[in-house]
Amino acid sequence: MRKAVCPGSFDPVTKGHLDIVSRASKIFDEVTVAVLINKRKASLFTVDERIEMLERETAHLDNVRVESFYGLLVDFCLERDIKAIVKGLRAISDFDYELQMAQMNHRLTEVETLFVSTNPLYSYLSSSLVKEVATYGGDVSGLVPDEVLTQLLEKLAQQNNQS
Ligand code: ADP
Repeated sequence: MRKAVCPGSFDPVTKGHLDIVSRASKIFDEVTVAVLINKRKASLFTVDERIEMLERETAHLDNVRVESFYGLLVDFCLERDIKAIVKGLRAISDFDYELQMAQMNHRLTEVETLFVSTNPLYSYLSSSLVKEVATYGGDVSGLVPDEVLTQLLEKLAQQNNQS
C-alpha cells in the first residue's frame, strides 16, 4: 500500500491545504494528515479543534485520515510505514527551507518528500495571513471552508471579549 503524510499546523485549515490533501489522495492509497503539536508556538485553535475541522473537511475523501504528532515527522512515518511526505510549494520563498527539511528527513530515514505546486488560486494563502486579515475585519471568505470561517470568526470574537 502506498502511504503518504501531509504535515502541518493547520491553524486553521485553508483551501490551499485541502487542495494539496485532495491531490495527494488521488496519487496514494492512504494519506494521513498529521497535525503538528508544537508546544513552543502559540496556536489559535487547539489540536483537537484542528483535527475535528480537518476530519470534517476531508470526510468525502475515503482514503484520508487525520492524526496529530509530536516530535520528528520521520519517526511518525517510520512507525506507520509511510514512505512519502507530500508538501505544497507556494512560491520560491518556500523552497529554501523545504529543501533543507526534505534533505534532512531523507538523511535521517530515507523518507522521500514530494512537492506539489500550489494551485495558483491559493499561492499567496497561509493560515497566518488568514488569521491576521480576519483579526482586522478583512474578508477571508472563499479562502477557508465556510464552517471553518464561522469557527474562526467565533474564536476571534471570543479573544476580543477576553482582552
Ligand atoms: P501555513 O501557516 O503556512 O498554512 P502549515 O504548517 O499549516 O502552515 O502548512 C502546512 C503545509 O501545507 C505547508 O508546508 C505547505 O506544504 C502546505 N500549504 C500551506 N498553505 C498552502 C497553500 N496555500 N497551497 C499549497 N500548500 C500549502
